Amino acid sequence: MPRILNDLKVPLDEDLAERLQWMEPDHGPFRILRQSVDARQRHSPHFVYSVEIAEAGETLKVEQFKLERTEISGSQERPIIVGSGPAGLFAALRLVERGIPCLLLERGSDSATRIKGISQYWRHGQLDRRNNVCYGEGGAGLYSDGKLITRIKSPHIPYVMNRLVQFGAPEEIQWLSNPHVGSDRIRRVIPKMREFLIANGCEIRFDTEVKSLLTEGKQVVGVKTEYGEDIRSPHVVLATGHSAEDMLLHLNDLG
Ligand SMILES: Cc1cc2nc3c(=O)[nH]c(=O)nc-3n(C[C@H](O)[C@H](O)[C@H](O)COP(=O)(O)OP(=O)(O)OC[C@H]3O[C@@H](n4cnc5c(N)ncnc54)[C@H](O)[C@@H]3O)c2cc1C
Repeated sequence: MPRILNDLKVPLDEDLAERLQWMEPDHGPFRILRQSVDARQRHSPHFVYSVEIAEAGETLKVEQFKLERTEISGSQERPIIVGSGPAGLFAALRLVERGIPCLLLERGSDSATRIKGISQYWRHGQLDRRNNVCYGEGGAGLYSDGKLITRIKSPHIPYVMNRLVQFGAPEEIQWLSNPHVGSDRIRRVIPKMREFLIANGCEIRFDTEVKSLLTEGKQVVGVKTEYGEDIRSPHVVLATGHSAEDMLLHLNDLG
């Protein structure tokens, strides 16, 4: 049966595969679960690995993140997700993976159009209120360097990393202790994610700001867009991030 080797120290100039070959000459396939650098001793910094290793002739189980498909009963109104930052995109992903069609509304444009608004600001100081570093497909931070560091220990982290890799992020984000997608790469990941969402039942409307929530009593029953359209659904995921001051003020007004 595959075993986990923890706290495996390997000098920076040594190859992990060679080290494992030396330690266990007859081993089978292995997989890195975690890699970090211990540089506390200035003169001998080294990698620290956790590795899953199989015996010769064995295989490693590939982690599957397939979600059960859900049969929807009752309301046929699609869930609405407001905002296509990380929270909104992953909410949409979870829904379509369960076979639930949804509608994603984003005030900014797709990432290729969005960069024009951002360049305009960087070059000429002209702020595009729709497309900027905080608003537009991918949300805040899409035009940064894509560090994926979190202090929380959530069981959902492997799923998120797995999906980012599926859409083109480097594989090592699944095991590095300080994972980093890189500024160019993260901008290629998001359009792939969008294509997947659309192909699997998510309608995405860019340049569509949600102006207010529709409510009946204390119940949210849909949203009103900037074009005056009322879209009804009993399920609204508000993923507008912390830059959306207007939405926060609206929520405050709603009490
Ligand atoms: C410059 C910068 C660099 C960053 N770098 C990193 C990093 O390297 N690593 C890291 O972990 N975090 C980083 N962050 C923080 C990270 O980006 C945020 O924590 C994360 O984006 C929050 O995700 P979110 O989906 O909740 O909200 P957001 O990313 O803010 O997304 C909200 C989305 O909702 C849309 N929206 C808002 N209001 C409406 C509305 N009324 N109608 C329709 N759509 C609406 C917005 O256009 C936006 O696309 C960075 C942030 C910034 C600003």
